[in-house]
Amino acid sequence: MNPRSLRFRMTAWYAGLLASALLLFGVFVYAGLERYLDFSLQKTLTEQSRSIGTQLLASIPSKRPGWLASEINEAYAPDVNGHFIRVTGADGEILYLSGPPKDNSFDPSRVPSFTTNGKEGYLKHFGMAGGHRLLVTGMVFTNPDGKRFLVESGAAYDPIENILHGLLVTLGIYMPLAVSLAIVGGYWLMRRSLRPVDEITKRAQGITSTNLSERLPIIKTGDELERLSTALNHMIARLDDAFQHINRFSADASHELRTPLTILQLELEGMIQHYRLDPELVDQIGSALEETHRLSRIVENLLVISRLDAGEVHIEKMKFDLGELAVSTVDQMKLLAEEKLLSMQCHAAGGVYIEADQARLKQVIVNLIDNAIKYTPPGGGINIDVGANQHSATVEVSDSGVGISAEVLPHVFERFYRADKARSRDSGGAGLGLAIVKAICTALGAEIRITSTEGLGSRFIVSLPLAPSHGGESPNTTKVPITVSEERS
Ligand code: ADP
Repeated sequence: MNPRSLRFRMTAWYAGLLASALLLFGVFVYAGLERYLDFSLQKTLTEQSRSIGTQLLASIPSKRPGWLASEINEAYAPDVNGHFIRVTGADGEILYLSGPPKDNSFDPSRVPSFTTNGKEGYLKHFGMAGGHRLLVTGMVFTNPDGKRFLVESGAAYDPIENILHGLLVTLGIYMPLAVSLAIVGGYWLMRRSLRPVDEITKRAQGITSTNLSERLPIIKTGDELERLSTALNHMIARLDDAFQHINRFSADASHELRTPLTILQLELEGMIQHYRLDPELVDQIGSALEETHRLSRIVENLLVISRLDAGEVHIEKMKFDLGELAVSTVDQMKLLAEEKLLSMQCHAAGGVYIEADQARLKQVIVNLIDNAIKYTPPGGGINIDVGANQHSATVEVSDSGVGISAEVLPHVFERFYRADKARSRDSGGAGLGLAIVKAICTALGAEIRITSTEGLGSRFIVSLPLAPSHGGESPNTTKVPITVSEERS
């Protein structure tokens, strides 16, 4: 879990706010209930005292001793209700004292006497032995004959404390439960709401200069997310425009250069063929002709790349055997390898059927072999391997040449990139061979990878999907190595 992630922070905020709200709610409920119960008990006790004071005490003089006790016990049953009742005369004589309650939570005889200090009554909380608390109200009454009595009613606080404790336990259990549920639910909800963003990210990662026509999904939420996806799409559209503009420009420029270059070549060739020129001048014109040929090749290659990038090249898909294509290509190029005293072998598994543009794929293999020949010193070896696994076919071109350093490796597919400019120019390369390979691979939906060690050689691996049904058999089981060219020393 990443604590800096939006999902984590939102869930944490949500859970924090919910916990605070629940805590506040708990405190209010607890305090409110406590006040309410306290107030109800006070009211009950006050009413009890008042009823004893007004209804019974006036009759005392005319009644026999013990009458008050039996009246109070009968009417209020203090020991059964767990109440405390004490009636005290003005001279401090206790006229009535209730017995201990059933649960023995307090001893009535130990309830301290409290003086009203001339007031009409009092309300007190007493702490009793055993940690029990008692709420006692005292009220002063005056008989018609002028006698004053203090009537005290009390009750243990235990039932209220039990209710409050129960509430505390309930809140203590359910609040963390509610917060935990909120955390899990909140996290899940955030995950759900951010899923479209994940989708956008994945799609955005897949958009490169080659598929700028694709667009991101628009999240129809009418808020920041929708605005973000729309803004990103507008940005991709602008990039698409810019790329197309560049590609069109390269293609147009190359196209425009083609004709004058051809005319220049013909003119120069004509000069050599039709006029008797000074041999030195012929040499100079020959050199100029060589440069125009080079220039023509560059212009042609640029045109190919620009058209491929702009998607203007028609890709003619057909089903064919990749092994056969590799074998025939190697066969056609073996003379080049032999000229440089290189051994070239082709191992091709039979029946590796793919659906692609054969001519373009051939150009890929030609360019890779051409490079292998160029960058492998005489006496070295070149291997071309064709194979397949469950889903894809691969063609590998490996050599024992000069290899490519780790710093150079990421740039070799760039246009006009040459690691060793002098050597590359000598061998006629302008740094466009691998750019063409890459452009074709992208257009064909193929993937190209390189592994190389400087001084030991390089391996270029092109993999592309197998044809939906490529002859029925697994190519691996029918692997037939075909050696095209004999080794030369
Ligand atoms: P070039 O026309 O210069 O060969 P490429 O685009 O074909 O241009 O290759 C780009 C650069 O990659 C080359 O200049 C070379 O340094 C390096 N390169 C390509 N293939 C190989 C290889 N088989 N072995 C070593 N270096 C290679």
